[in-house]
Amino acid sequence: IKSAECRTIYRISHADYQSFERQKNIRHAILPALTNNEFHVVLQPKVNAERKVMSSELLIRWNSPELGAVRPDEFIPIAEISSDIHDITKWVLEQACINLAEAKKYGQNTQIAINVSARDIVRPVFEETIMNMLRRYNLRPQQLILELTETALIQDLSAVSEKLKILSDYGLKISIDDFGTAYSSMINLYMLPISELKIDRIFTLEMEKNFKAKGIVESLLALSKRMQISTVAEGVETAQQVEILEKMGCDLMQGYYFARPLPPEEWLAFLLKANK
Ligand code: C2E
Ligand code: CA
Ligand code: CA
Ligand code: CA
Repeated sequence: IKSAECRTIYRISHADYQSFERQKNIRHAILPALTNNEFHVVLQPKVNAERKVMSSELLIRWNSPELGAVRPDEFIPIAEISSDIHDITKWVLEQACINLAEAKKYGQNTQIAINVSARDIVRPVFEETIMNMLRRYNLRPQQLILELTETALIQDLSAVSEKLKILSDYGLKISIDDFGTAYSSMINLYMLPISELKIDRIFTLEMEKNFKAKGIVESLLALSKRMQISTVAEGVETAQQVEILEKMGCDLMQGYYFARPLPPEEWLAFLLKANK
């Protein structure tokens, strides 16, 4: 049926109709895009006080010939509605391994973090998929970090907790992403084998001008230290933010101030230069 008819039947606005259409187009384009190599990845370093790259977050990019550049914020939630997310995550996992193997050729046994969704984590074959991929590229589980949001953690806390235990027993690192923005609960930190906590960009951004934001960052750093969980501040963009975070003893920093998410070759060059 035509746009106008559809709008008459459902009495929806033109804007809503367009966004509905776009979502549908994205949904249908995801799997073909994987086979047509329309995705690529970028990597963003997480640096320590000595400006050494300790690990890097791998982020997906999509340039679609039909839809243009589609941001992960837009297509990942759509992929998460179906099992498409599993195909994306598996592809992303392989990209992480490819880049870890490349860095290893240059003597860098670095770590890469990938973003995983709630649906991935509770999947029965998840740990097997990961371990097989690591084995295929001759990598150690300690080199892979799984970034999970709190929203993903609470979906099914007992199932997630059981799965995270298995993964961390294998040696994989678990990181909580965007900490402080969703259902931040001490029980998560207490019950789950978390090795890294990422303080959401909003706190990094507000910290200078807002004493509450600064208080939250300070408290999270103190708490993590006591629990032997390593901390990463996200979205670090200015020298002032770096100064404050270093004074407060944040372990790692990630953001445009140090490096934008970089294409693999540039990322490797950055890594080799920083860690030489
Ligand atoms: P996220 O995991 O919180 O990723 C951090 C986002 O902040 C990235 O946006 C990154 O490019 C951006 N960023 C990094 N440094 C700075 C900075 O200094 N300032 C500002 N303003 N932004 C900064 P991106 O790549 O567009 O990703 C958005 C979200 O999409 C991610 O949020 C993550 O939830 C999701 N995503 C990205 N790649 C993947 C993936 O491979 N798999 C899954 N499941 N989700 C992904
Ligand atoms: Ca992340
Ligand atoms: Ca984040
Ligand atoms: Ca986010």
